[in-house]
Amino acid sequence: MIKDDLLAILVCPLGHAPLRREGDALVCTRCGLRYAIRDGIPNMLYEEAELPPGVGSIADLACSKEAAATAS
Ligand SMILES: [Zn+2]
Repeated sequence: MIKDDLLAILVCPLGHAPLRREGDALVCTRCGLRYAIRDGIPNMLYEEAELPPGVGSIADLACSKEAAATAS
């Protein structure tokens, strides 16, 4: 089981938004990307995370747009 104090310091690597626990995944509260937890270790690679319904690509995520906006 993943600990709450670990969850508190984990953020979405795309837009640094907080995550919430949802079953066996961590879900970004902003863009909805689902990071799977395997053997108690969250896989924080957004390339391997599951896109939320209705989103076709990582570039369309709210966190991606946020990251692009702050970079420019
Ligand atoms: Zn996100």
